[in-house]
Amino acid sequence: MMDQPEYLKLLAGVFDEFNREHFNSRLEPPVFRFGTPHVPSEYGQYENGEIVIRGSLINGDHPHVRAGDMNEEGRLLLIRDVVLHQMTHQFCHERLKWPEINYSGHGPEFRDQCNRIGKKLGLPEVRSSKCHKKVRHLISCGVWPWAVRPAGYYLGAFRPIIPTRRNSPVDAIVERIENLTLDDRRELFSLLASKKLL
Ligand SMILES: [Zn+2]
Repeated sequence: MMDQPEYLKLLAGVFDEFNREHFNSRLEPPVFRFGTPHVPSEYGQYENGEIVIRGSLINGDHPHVRAGDMNEEGRLLLIRDVVLHQMTHQFCHERLKWPEINYSGHGPEFRDQCNRIGKKLGLPEVRSSKCHKKVRHLISCGVWPWAVRPAGYYLGAFRPIIPTRRNSPVDAIVERIENLTLDDRRELFSLLASKKLL
């Protein structure tokens, strides 16, 4: 497995590549860091010139990825997509000066940027996080582009549980639990047990 300085160097290279390819080299190079994004279900985060990548995706501890050196290449493909997602947030921040807070960053402007880039990559269209019934069948830009990559793209290293539809209140809760990390799930279950809800 690559060590941290090696990985950070690689991410800086990925940034340069995407900045040229998708943003006319207009983005300022951010500081990359491995850590824990504020939102438990997020794989990464862009904030004040810094891109945080969830560390457990890199070392393979995250429940959505497979561990082991043989899956490192597939995990790296996922990390590249997380970088692209965060760079798209960065683009919206630098250009709009406001991050579509009402949509947790996944609003119409972010969606349009995802679709602009996605079209070049041959990916299907995505919708904003809050949407009209008409486009509810589309996948949210909050999980772009990993949720719209073709099967097998991550060489079997990524096994997300991404909901395609919400049928009932229970489904909605299950969906949220599936997006939690193992630690968050443990905390949830001990909380439910302490309230005698299990
Ligand atoms: Zn996002």
